[in-house]
Order: sequence, then structure tokens, then C-alpha cells
Amino acid sequence: MIPNEFRSLLRDVKPIINGQHIDEPEADRLPIVYPGTGEEVASLIEANADIVDQATLAAKASLDSGVWRNKTTEERRAVFNRIIELTQKHIDELSVLESINTGQTLRYSRHAQLPRISGSFRFYADYINQMTEQASHDPGNALRVVTRQPLGVVGLISSSNAPTALAATKIAAALAFGNSCVLKTSENTPLALYRFVELLHEAGVPDGVVNYVNGRGQITGDAIANHPLIRGISFTGGTATAKHIAEKGAKTLKRLDMELGGKSANIIMPSCDLERALDAALLSIYTNNGQQCFAGSRILVHRDIAKEFIQKFCARAESIRVGNPFDSSSENGPLACRAHFDRLQSFGQLAREQATLLTGGSPLETNSGGYYFPATAAIADTNKNALCQQEIFGPFATFLIIDSVDEAISIANDSEYGLVSYIWTNNHAEAMAASQHIQAGLTLVNTPLMGLDLRLPFGGFKQSAVGREGARGAQAFYTEEKTTVFSTSTEPLIKLGAID
Ligand code: NAD
Repeated sequence: MIPNEFRSLLRDVKPIINGQHIDEPEADRLPIVYPGTGEEVASLIEANADIVDQATLAAKASLDSGVWRNKTTEERRAVFNRIIELTQKHIDELSVLESINTGQTLRYSRHAQLPRISGSFRFYADYINQMTEQASHDPGNALRVVTRQPLGVVGLISSSNAPTALAATKIAAALAFGNSCVLKTSENTPLALYRFVELLHEAGVPDGVVNYVNGRGQITGDAIANHPLIRGISFTGGTATAKHIAEKGAKTLKRLDMELGGKSANIIMPSCDLERALDAALLSIYTNNGQQCFAGSRILVHRDIAKEFIQKFCARAESIRVGNPFDSSSENGPLACRAHFDRLQSFGQLAREQATLLTGGSPLETNSGGYYFPATAAIADTNKNALCQQEIFGPFATFLIIDSVDEAISIANDSEYGLVSYIWTNNHAEAMAASQHIQAGLTLVNTPLMGLDLRLPFGGFKQSAVGREGARGAQAFYTEEKTTVFSTSTEPLIKLGAID
């Protein structure tokens, strides 16, 4: 149950265009569901193509007016600092809304997810203060200077698993470089981001600079991908969705930045600190119920330690407390939405039929109507198994036994994805081999992922990404580089057509 004191925070979610909440009586309404009970707690007014068009025109008008893009660095930083203050002030409210909607435990929303909002705005406020550009000087000839202009109106589309933190990073980057945007997060998890967009306006982001729309992917998302005035799309979500967006966006040659799915290998070698590797393997796949792109979902454990490791892993997995997200003893809550819950059940069935199910695999019996699924583990004979190839995006680990680091690397690479990889070893040569030969945007040696460092690129190889998040990738995506040449020459020019 949602504690009664939090119910007053629940409101219907409407588009926010030009700083105004839009009432659209004709628009479709989608249910907003609390995944802890399956109860509809509010509704979402879906933005159809007309509403997305209004949002885009508002963004374009704000861009053309210069109300944000022409602000000085100091003025932008002042607004960012005010956003940080307001976010801190409202962090409890935002965390509750995030937990109601995603099913994440309140502790996780409050301490792991929502603080990322201020972190992103603080980072970009500092970044634009330090940023300099290139120049070249050819004495007696020319001074050439590179400046950056905003890309323009950008579409920001993000996923259900960390809806507010991920969207906030995109908003911070888009605004840092002077863009205006049309923003959409997952229709399943809109509540906290909606409130955050209100706070952005309260903090002084001018009307029309951030326009919030939401709805189903094929309605609202498609309208963003199709809109000719949107110059680029920064997308976080599934690889299949990215392909739709890329296809639609190609008609107007949109620039794309895409952070997508993964099937990351977690390699456990005999020389590792087994207890630490065990803690990290559990964290890497079961934090946030496995609903994280960088989940270590394929655990490749060396034969020499496999029995002990797997036994200990399953015993711990069975003890993970899955329950009411507002109960402080819960380590995980329900899955974010019904579709993910159903998908997990089908993978549980697949594990029974085509692999060996070690633990979990069926919904928890809670009589709550919620989407509670236990920490699950299976062992497969081959990496060709669908459990090893498909991103499950839930609390589901699949083990494979390996005999050498070379075999592990080859299995890690036998995937359409290439987001993250982990290796646990105290053998330097094995760590180096993993670092050099695993086709993934990030290799973690003897550590789980402890947060993203925006100074560094984050993204994947192969079908896990197009482009990179992080400062340099964001700067490249959200700006147009422009070179201006100033002549410093007094030499005469060739006089075409002149008669001597
Ligand atoms: P999803 O692809 O179903 O949805 C993501 C967003 O795309 C939502 O806002 C959705 O409404 C929208 N969308 C859906 N269809 C669309 C269409 N045809 N046109 C435009 N937009 C459309 O993903 P999800 O279930 O919300 O999130 C899970 C996925 O996100 C996983 O694959 C996960 O790995 C990935 N993810 C990646 C990262 C990363 O940084 N690489 C981070 C978080 C999540």
C-alpha cells in the first residue's frame, strides 16, 4: 500500500508547454499505476502529434527569441544553482513520487537515484564555466576561431528504470549548451519528472525552453522522432525502440545520441577475492531489481570456483527481501510495470524448459496485486541460449561455466550488445586482456559500477549505443561547431577580371 500521507502528492500528469499545464479534453488518458498493488493512482494526458507540435513550436520560439541561448554563462549557472537548491528542498517529495511510480524502494530513490539530479546540474554548471574553444593563428594571414552554437530544438526521450535522474542529466546537458527541448520520459513512470519540470520553471528556466510531453511511444515518441523542427534526439531506452527512432529521424537527418540495452558479462576468475566478487555480482544484477542497463546479467564463472560461488550466490539471492517499497526493510520493490513483470515470467518458463533454474523464476505470492518477482538465477549450457542473448531487464542472472579468461572474453563478445563488462581477478594479465579485448564501452576490474563520472564517456559498443554520454560526448551532441576566419592579411588578392 502507498502510505496515506503520500497520497496527497498524486496528481494527473499533463503536458507542460511554454510553462503552462495544458488541458486537452479530447486527448487520450493513460493510467498511471502503482506497481506495488497494480492500482491506478492517477492518469496521464497523452500528447498526440498536435500537442507535440505545439511543444516543438514553443521550443523553437524560445530558441529564436534567445531568451535562454543568449544568456551569459553566469546567468545560466545562476539558474542551475537555483535548480539544485529547489531539488534539495523537494527531494523527499520527488523520491516518494519516484518510488510510487517505479516501485523502487524509497531508500534507493532517496539516496541513490534522486541525488543524481543535483549532481548533473552541478557538473554542467562547473563544466560551462571551464569550457574554452579552439583557435588558430597564422600570423599575417588569418585568425581562426571555433565557437559553439546550440544544436537547436532537441528531443529528449528516456526510459522507465531511472526516469528522473536520466532525464535530468539530459536536461542539464541540453540547457548547459543553450538548447531548448521537448522532453518525454516513459509513460509508465512520469510522476516525479513532471514535478521536477515544474521546479525547473520555478527556478527560472524561461517558458518554452523545457516542454514536457508524455504518452505511448508510438504516439508521443513517434511524433517527436518525426518532427522536422527537432534537430536531434537524445534517447535512453531499448535497442529495438532506438531503431524505430533512427528510422523516423532519418527523414530529417536528425542527430542521434542513443544509450541502449546490454547483456553484460561478469567474469569471475579463481584468483579473485571471492567474497567481494560475490557481493558485487549480487549488486550488479539485483540492484533496482535488475532494471539497469549495466546489469551484470551473464555471470561467467571459472570452473575451479563455480560450485562454491554459485551456491553462495543462490543462498544470498534467496534471502533478498523483496516487498513494499515504503517498508525500510525491503531491499527491492516490485518491477516497474506489468509488461516487465510478464516478460520476467516468460523468461522463468524459458529457464525451466531450456536451462537449469537455480532459484526464483515465478512471481512472489503476496496477494497484493503487485508486480513482485524474486531474485532469480539459472545456469545455461551455452551462450547461444536466449537467456544469454536477450536483455531480460529484471532480477535474472544467468550463469555459464568457463575454463579460461580467453574463453570468457570470447563469450563476452558473442553478443549484439557491448555496454559494460566486469572482471574479478587478481591476475594482472587477465585484467589487461579483459580491458583490451572485451568489446564494451566500460570494463570494470574488481568493482561494481559505483556511479557515473560525467567527466568520462559512458556508452556502448555495437548495438548498445550511438554516441556517448558524459561531458565531451554531450558537448559534441548538443552543439554545432562553427569556425570563423578573421583575416589579418594586407597582401593584395588575385584580381579576377581586372584588366592590367
Ligand atoms: P523502451 O525502449 O521501452 O522505452 C524508452 C522510451 O522510449 C520511453 O519513453 C518510451 O515511451 C519511448 N518509446 C517507445 N517506443 C517509441 C517509439 N516508437 N518512438 C519513440 N519513442 C518510443 O525502454 P524502457 O523499458 O523504458 O527501458 C529499458 C531499456 O532502457 C533497457 O533496454 C535498458 O537497457 C535501457 N537503458 C539504457 C541505459 C543506458 O545508459 N545505456 C540506461 C537506462 C536504460
